[in-house]
Amino acid sequence: MSKNSTRARRACASIVAAVLLVAAFALPPAADAQRRGNARRAANASAASTSAASRRDPDVARIVAEIDPRNIERTVRKLVSFGTRNTLSAQDNPTRGIGAARDWLKREFEEIARGAGGRLSVELQSYTQEANPPPRGRVLQPTVISNVVATLRGTQPASAARMYVVSGHYDSMCTSPTDATCDAPGANDDASGVAAIVEMARVMSRREFDATIVFMAIAGEEQGLLGSTYYAEQAKQKSLNIEGMFTNDIVGNTLGGNGVRDRNTLRVFSEGVPSNETPEEANVRRSTGGENDSASRQLARFIKETGATYLPGFNVQMIYRRDRYQRGGDHIPFLERGFAAVRFTEPNEEYKHQHQNVRTEQGTIYGDLPEFVDYGYIAQVARVNAAALAALARAPARPKGVGLVTRRLTNDTDLQWTANAELDLAGYEIVWRDTTSPVWTNSRAVGNVTTYTVEGMSKDNYFFGVRAVDREGNRSPVSIPRPVR
Ligand SMILES: [Zn+2]
Repeated sequence: MSKNSTRARRACASIVAAVLLVAAFALPPAADAQRRGNARRAANASAASTSAASRRDPDVARIVAEIDPRNIERTVRKLVSFGTRNTLSAQDNPTRGIGAARDWLKREFEEIARGAGGRLSVELQSYTQEANPPPRGRVLQPTVISNVVATLRGTQPASAARMYVVSGHYDSMCTSPTDATCDAPGANDDASGVAAIVEMARVMSRREFDATIVFMAIAGEEQGLLGSTYYAEQAKQKSLNIEGMFTNDIVGNTLGGNGVRDRNTLRVFSEGVPSNETPEEANVRRSTGGENDSASRQLARFIKETGATYLPGFNVQMIYRRDRYQRGGDHIPFLERGFAAVRFTEPNEEYKHQHQNVRTEQGTIYGDLPEFVDYGYIAQVARVNAAALAALARAPARPKGVGLVTRRLTNDTDLQWTANAELDLAGYEIVWRDTTSPVWTNSRAVGNVTTYTVEGMSKDNYFFGVRAVDREGNRSPVSIPRPVR
């Protein structure tokens, strides 16, 4: 822009300001109030808010960079080398069967723990599943189910009890879920997810996080979500504070059965209406909206935001479903017990390479073999997970007790919440979006307060939420309000 045009613009702006000033004095009081009201609403809607995007933490960027596809390939091929990992297969054979895979994973996590300054602990969580044969179940005789659990303890006293769980399942199956001896390489379903969490544990355990992260290789998924059900039920009984759970299941194939090659998209499935919603909560939701605002959906939005921040160009595709159509995964037992949870899966599945006996028919290869897995893609999946987990575990907890106060009929929106306990808390942000928007679009810092009135913006016309921010700018996922009087 030339100096002249700048000068001309300034002059023009001065004239406009002068005219407005004159007009202001000339207006009657009511019109003046209206003008100020309009100005305030305009400010509310634009100038006093910023986009809802998350901040970029250089150390999270380093975590993302350190995820190495070579380690992921090594883990997948090692898991495949056990021949089968069917949950009903041998548990005492050192080279074949699920027991060998379980012991190898435990040793692998223990090796990682050696470089983690005592923060990573490794244990087997085992129980005996009673027989539940077909047609009802998929367990022919009483079977020990073992989850391999590596826990990276949080280092901030106020946050260490807050947990995020990330999983893959290490069991596999061929065509028959109860065939314990057929080859079931399970390279994609789900050595891919397990390899991702092992690599995340390696990179993330070298660092400190405020909250606790649990890396879990689950057994019994193909037998009916047995290992995840056991873990989630124990967690519920112990009142563990699990604020988010991610399952990675079938995250390694980039050439779909539909012929589409897509190395740049990851689906994140999240339910809209909570699986454990009570009839009373359903009544409130029907009256106020919110079928698109479960805690799991907020988690999915958070993951999409951090994905865009740390992996620009990689598409985290939100799917508004609990899981694929009429199918299930290890996040569901968590959802049923009231924990926010999401599922990650590749964009286009290839059913020739899932749950199939390894064979060649008329030149077509069937079976879940390691040559059909894209290791660079699994690394991208691990990066999306790791970035979101790191951002979650460094951020404050999402605000609790968030209420939208409905004592008065007003065009303002009155919000309240309870104070967070973290010592490094800086304050809170109000976020909002149009009711038709899939993601939060606006935010406003409101300071370290526990009530806030959004003036001139009606709760009828927007969805509002609250999130907590610490002194480094780490933001929690959003909590949506319930109506309170
Ligand atoms: Zn699976």
